[in-house]
Amino acid sequence: MRSVFFAFLFCFSLLPAHSFGDASEAAYGKAKEGYARLVDSPQKKLHRDQWEAVIQAFAAVAENHPQGARGADGLFMAARATRELYDISRNPEDAGAAVRLFERVAESYPASSLADDALFAAGGIHETLLERKGLAYLRYQAVVERYPEGDMLPQARSRAVALIAFAPPPEPAPPVNVSAEKLAAPPSLDPMGSVAGETPPARQAAAGEALLTGVRYWSKPGYTRIVVDLEGTPEFSANVLPADVKAGLPPRIYLDIKKVQPAAKLVEKTQVEDGLLRQVRAARFDPTTMRVVLDLVAYHSYKAFTLPDPYRIVVDVYGDEQAVLSAAPGPELRAAPPVEEKAAPAPPPSPVAKKPVEVPRKAPALGPLAGLRRIVVDAGHGGKDPGAVGPSGLQEKHVTLALAKLLKTELERELGCQVILTRDRDVFIPLEERTAIANKVGADLFISVHANASHNKNAYGVETYYLNFSKNDKAAAVAARENGTSLKQVGDLELILFDLMANAKINESSRLAAEIQNSLVHDLKRQYPDVRDLGVKQGPFYVLVGATMPSVLVEAAFISHKREETLLASREFQQQTSAAIVKGVRNYASALKQVASK
Ligand SMILES: [Zn+2]
Repeated sequence: MRSVFFAFLFCFSLLPAHSFGDASEAAYGKAKEGYARLVDSPQKKLHRDQWEAVIQAFAAVAENHPQGARGADGLFMAARATRELYDISRNPEDAGAAVRLFERVAESYPASSLADDALFAAGGIHETLLERKGLAYLRYQAVVERYPEGDMLPQARSRAVALIAFAPPPEPAPPVNVSAEKLAAPPSLDPMGSVAGETPPARQAAAGEALLTGVRYWSKPGYTRIVVDLEGTPEFSANVLPADVKAGLPPRIYLDIKKVQPAAKLVEKTQVEDGLLRQVRAARFDPTTMRVVLDLVAYHSYKAFTLPDPYRIVVDVYGDEQAVLSAAPGPELRAAPPVEEKAAPAPPPSPVAKKPVEVPRKAPALGPLAGLRRIVVDAGHGGKDPGAVGPSGLQEKHVTLALAKLLKTELERELGCQVILTRDRDVFIPLEERTAIANKVGADLFISVHANASHNKNAYGVETYYLNFSKNDKAAAVAARENGTSLKQVGDLELILFDLMANAKINESSRLAAEIQNSLVHDLKRQYPDVRDLGVKQGPFYVLVGATMPSVLVEAAFISHKREETLLASREFQQQTSAAIVKGVRNYASALKQVASK
């Protein structure tokens, strides 16, 4: 279907000019309106057919009115929209289609002011998305040669210089006009990923430049999460390079982060050696770009996304399925910072921030629910992040910690499984670390506990969430609050989710959420008749992004509601809530068992 669609785009030939050039104006205007509606709608943007309709509308402007005033604009916008579609789909076919459309602009409309932009854009796609550096060089060179007066000249020249090594053997064509001095200076990190030379000393970031402050990671066999910490919000691109046997280079994932400088404290090389990832290197690639290279051992797929406040880039690297399945959590689990590997003398406490996650060495007692060996319970917020605050001053972070501790005791006693807390005291832990802990210890379930809040003081009730696109504004608002972000950033996350949902256990998570919600409402009602069932909902919660096991977020009650704040503070309500969640988990597991034994 897709290839037919694009074949249609590329095969049109220049039809005779219409006598009324301005007919293109109306068609282009309509196409632009469709485009504006699309880019304004986070929901629409997730649908390929919406993009294809817009691309086709733009392409039709050039097709039906090739000599019209808007022919070049139509074709250029078709190319641009296809490029944007690629940003969401990450389908190389879309990148290929975009590059061909950009090249068509330059071929069909060489005198247009868009021709050099189109050539430069084509070069960029060849270079960064399609690993065709030779072709990229030629497109940049074409800008330099054909449009020396154009505004793309400086950028095109600098990229051509950077890619000079990929220039095809010189034909009669004149070489790019670059200074010898520029040619002599090799980039500090060569584009194929091997470190050449040293990163120049860190300097203060200039205005508008971000700082790369550090690299963190968590790993278990078959899975590694890397977080690149930044000050500022620089643009970046992520790419993969296959292994280069001849050069002795492993497969690599690299991030090019633009307009960024290394912080003085930046550690340039982080050894990981977890069987999936060898090391992470950060070095300057050109005067304003930092390249972060992940030297891989094995590799199946990866996902890169960003989290705001503070801005950071998260890369989840997955090994192949077999490696993941056979990765029995145990002594080989590695802690994030390669610190002392010694086993803790006493039964290790639950992991907390700034401490490696310790998994007790002894196998967990297999209770009646053997399918659930290990559960990670996440007490929302903590430390500098109090969460929501009730009318009497009760802080959500204290409620969630009390609930999490009760849950640990109850789940271990009732279900015979091992429970790991993401925090067992009042400390701040970033959201991405919480999920990473669950992935790292090979948890079978992930339960994040919270207390709800609303501007509406009368709002009350209990609701349980699982990760998905938010289906309503209220869910989006709850996600925004729990993520510590704006509603707009929730919209951005939904775009990211487009790419991430493949690893989410949506069906299992929704069933777990339903069991917990039912049990909470049913059991709490006996003692607290005012409990209101707000149902199971879906939303884009950062803390659930990237979790590879069924995972839910429980909003136990509204801390912003006077009566429920009092409840949340009471030990009895906390115990009842915890018991109800345990029952929900038990019901979920029994249903699983029944399915498994059928
Ligand atoms: Zn919360």
